[in-house]
Amino acid sequence: MLSGRRWSFAQMAEVILEGVTKQFPDGTKAVDNVSLNIQDREFLVLVGPSGCGKSTTLRLVAGLESLSHGTIRIGGRAVNDLPPKDRDIAMVFQNYALYPHMTVYKNLAFGLRLRYGGGFGARVLRRLINPRRSAELSALRSGIDARVRQAAARLSIEKLLHRKPHELSGGERQRVALGRAIVRDPAAFLFDEPLSNLDAKLRQQMRTELKQLHKSLAATTIYVTHDQIEAMTLGQRVVVMDRGQIQQIAPPQVVYREPANLFVARFFGSTPLNLVKGNLERNADELEFVCGPFRLKLTDQLRSAAGFWPRQITLGFRSEDLRITDESPKLGWELPAAEVTQVDRWGDASVVYFRWAAESLVAKLAGDVHARVGDRMRFSLDAERVMWFDTATELNLVKNKS
Ligand code: ATP
Repeated sequence: MLSGRRWSFAQMAEVILEGVTKQFPDGTKAVDNVSLNIQDREFLVLVGPSGCGKSTTLRLVAGLESLSHGTIRIGGRAVNDLPPKDRDIAMVFQNYALYPHMTVYKNLAFGLRLRYGGGFGARVLRRLINPRRSAELSALRSGIDARVRQAAARLSIEKLLHRKPHELSGGERQRVALGRAIVRDPAAFLFDEPLSNLDAKLRQQMRTELKQLHKSLAATTIYVTHDQIEAMTLGQRVVVMDRGQIQQIAPPQVVYREPANLFVARFFGSTPLNLVKGNLERNADELEFVCGPFRLKLTDQLRSAAGFWPRQITLGFRSEDLRITDESPKLGWELPAAEVTQVDRWGDASVVYFRWAAESLVAKLAGDVHARVGDRMRFSLDAERVMWFDTATELNLVKNKS
């Protein structure tokens, strides 16, 4: 029984959400008609600002909240009416709540003993009632022991098995919490901000470990975070949510470079997204983006599509796509000289704020760049990297993969 139906990872564990809605009794629609197909063995990240509905979505999959509408399937089976324990999932939370009076070993084994009835009381009772059960029980016990040790080895916590939670560091405790999920060999792992309590360095380390762990377990994983770095580094695909609805589902590089709309574009990036509002104007055979006295000619590539665009356009571009014009090679568009208003030194980069047209813009440049407040600098912009948004709908006019 304990040899494990999935320990060999043979079973498909696709998780499907069809038209899932959750409305709380006070009328709050936390999740609004969400449809999602998480493939077997995929690492999918749900990301978005606080209150966007990502935790509620995860809790619906786990069975910790009831659905208002829709269907959830795990491994091909509709689970709407199944309690959490029968859904074959394991969840790791931000507050991992280990049992303080138990050793790491017992913390890891506890769930299995409950599930397979290998607790001490049960053992004694069964042995008294039926001595033949004793052989079965010892097999069960060694099966549990093997799983606990295998999980501990995967997480490099073998040496901590005899310790109690108060004798562990935060990172070690988080690993034990992960171990508790792994030993159960579930169809899917659900993570809700599991690294939030750790300091920046440890988070970075745990991110790497989680990635490796997913590779070796090859298990379907749904991971909730509000942290864009976590989403970008861990997710094979990222689901961006806002106000209970999905804004975009795509691999990390796509949500960064080809965001479906302004919300997604603004959510990602270590510096604010540069935005310039203007109009599209025809000038002889050319199409130009016009903002005050400034005119930027559209590339040949864009011109035919842009013929169908609305007049009011918002130009978006990332801070790393600007260069100082004097530097070679030059990028597509040159902006007029602008006055530097702020310089932030990050060590590996300098973040230079400047005014252009009526906007405050930002360029991410080399750490040792010469720039001071009050300097006048010229920047050029990589025309290929510019994002074009409809000012009215805020949709990306070039790539709309929502
Ligand atoms: P955070 O990152 O802050 O945890 P989240 O994206 O995970 O946010 P949810 O916890 O899913 O957001 O909450 C989504 C919305 O549902 C929020 O507006 C929240 O206030 C609301 N909500 C959550 N639980 C309840 C509840 N039990 N009753 C009423 N509203 C709720």
